[in-house]
Amino acid sequence: MKIRELFSYFTPYEWETPSWMIAEEHGLKLDQIIRMDMNTSPYLPLKWLKNLESKITMMKINNYPDTTYRDLVNEISNYVGVKPEKIIPTNGADEAIDIIVKTFIDCGSEAILSSPTYDYFRVSVELQGGKIIKILRKNDFTDNVDGILSSINEKTRIIFLCSPNNPTGNITEYKDLIRILDEVPDVTVVVDEAYYEYSGRTFIELTETYDNLIIVRTLSKAFGLAGARIGYIVTSKETAKLLNKARPPNSLNTISIELAVIALRDSETVIRNSRKIVKERERVRELLSALPKLKVYPSEANFLLFKLVRGDSRLLHKRLIERGIVIRNLDSIPELRSHLRVTISLPEHNNKFLKLIEKLLEEV
Ligand code: PMP
Repeated sequence: MKIRELFSYFTPYEWETPSWMIAEEHGLKLDQIIRMDMNTSPYLPLKWLKNLESKITMMKINNYPDTTYRDLVNEISNYVGVKPEKIIPTNGADEAIDIIVKTFIDCGSEAILSSPTYDYFRVSVELQGGKIIKILRKNDFTDNVDGILSSINEKTRIIFLCSPNNPTGNITEYKDLIRILDEVPDVTVVVDEAYYEYSGRTFIELTETYDNLIIVRTLSKAFGLAGARIGYIVTSKETAKLLNKARPPNSLNTISIELAVIALRDSETVIRNSRKIVKERERVRELLSALPKLKVYPSEANFLLFKLVRGDSRLLHKRLIERGIVIRNLDSIPELRSHLRVTISLPEHNNKFLKLIEKLLEEV
């Protein structure tokens, strides 16, 4: 079988191990496993599911969905406060990234990552035949704008920023983004705002002024709908027209579209839940910071990045999993040796994590 040369060196996206596999490996029951590694919401939106249930038997599921996704676009438009022409719904934020990459990356084009950041940017660009240029963030994880700007050449097509950034938790600074947008109007700047609801800070208004700015959002995080796979792009009307040429016609499904519409009509619930998580994040951060051997970073998202200053972070990660608490081990990322990331969950889960890590810190 002849395959693309790329696959001789390409590193695929590292999928999270499913809970059933963790349970089997460590002799645990499925309900003993607490996932604090996926940055998802701990709140199951039962109210929305019940509402969906009442509509599901009336769905014309034998037909394709409305390929303009009109109802969903209108709800996103209300939620975000921009005109429908500026919005493209996608099958999760990951598909949004793929559509952007397909629009701008030719074989041999370059994309800049403000690194460390969300790995799917790299995966998408490399699969499209593009090359990744990593510009390391500063010590406080803010974007190295001088580094980004000086690495731009005629092959550069996209600069990926992420605000709040996964996994560092900090946001892009307004002055930094403006400087990039002003200095390179012919390079597309993507700002991934997957965790927007936790920071409350968005750059969407700048899409009125800058055609080269594209915002990516998702309902997988604060909306608690990761399983429904709904994301969206907000950009200028002109850029949206261009991106629409690269988007698949029917990648969203009728059931998820309806669920997303129901959810977006109830955004007060999302805001309330996001506030609870933010409050909980600050409580956990304070308690975690008080433990020995740990350096905990500030965060504007629903997760905390921390470093085990002395000891074996891989062992700590393993010991937590053995007891059913799954967090993200970032040790394989060169800039994040001995770092771990924990997603903020319900208070009882967070307390369990805190109690366990306090005990394990004496052993690792
Ligand atoms: N962007 C960032 C920064 C993320 O952390 C994630 C989820 N891990 C995604 C995009 C993907 O989100 P979705 O589930 O909407 O594809």
